[in-house]
This record gives sequence, C-alpha cells and structure tokens, in this order.
Amino acid sequence: MGDEGKWIFIDIDTQIDFMLPHGRLYVESAEQLLPLLKQLTQFARAHHIPIISSMDAHAADDPEFQQFPPHCVKGTPGQQKVPETLTSAPVVIPERGSFALPGSAEQVIVEKSSLDIFSNPNTEVLLAQLKRHELVVYGVATDY
Ligand SMILES: [Zn+2]
Repeated sequence: MGDEGKWIFIDIDTQIDFMLPHGRLYVESAEQLLPLLKQLTQFARAHHIPIISSMDAHAADDPEFQQFPPHCVKGTPGQQKVPETLTSAPVVIPERGSFALPGSAEQVIVEKSSLDIFSNPNTEVLLAQLKRHELVVYGVATDY
C-alpha cells in the first residue's frame, strides 16, 4: 500500500447478463465474486482511486451475436451493472459520438460493442488523461 495515487481500477464487464445465474451469458460462479467486488469498489472510493468500468452495450442485432448468445443489449436489465461495482456518481462514455471527458469522476463507464475495451477510442484518451500507471484489473471473462 502507499501507491494508491498511481492506481486505476479496471472493472471488466460486471454486468447482470454475465454475473448472475439468470443472465443471458452467465459466467459460471461469477456471483461468488460479488462480495469481493463490493470490497474493491469501497476500497477505491476510500482511497480516491478512479474506477474505469467496461460495459457491453450491444444493439439487438449486433454482429457479435453470431459468435455469442445475445447479451447486454443496450437498455435491457441484463445490461445493467451489478450494484456491487457501481458508485454513486458514474459518468458514462458512449462508444460513438462526442462527450466531455470528466475531470475527476470517481467512476467512468466505457461502453463498448465488442470484446476489447479499446474498441472505444475514448478509452485511450481517458487513460492518458488520468496519468496513473498501475492498472488493477478485475471482473469477469477477463481472459477475453
Ligand atoms: Zn458482448
């Protein structure tokens, strides 16, 4: 500890469709991570560590659904993040269109429609702006 000022937490795809047994693309046993995820979120808040959360946001006819069952369709309950990984004041950055980069948001949710969080070009801009270099990555299906 003591290096918190360099850290960013990267929270990957902790959305209902992946995390809970009734989700559309449930990751086996993912719900067992929930208490730990809650602790990570609380730790970040207590130590002023910014959280970047990737969030699948698919169209209903997304090409990814040729490879995977439909999941995380934008606006559906399954697309929502589990409460354990949500702070009180997240800022959402869409994959397309303009947005204002937040100056000091506690949590930035980066929407994406493919596996790679960097498919949202704003991710790289955001990381550069935060000027923090130690990434702590957690979540589900991080092997993708
Ligand atoms: Zn997806």
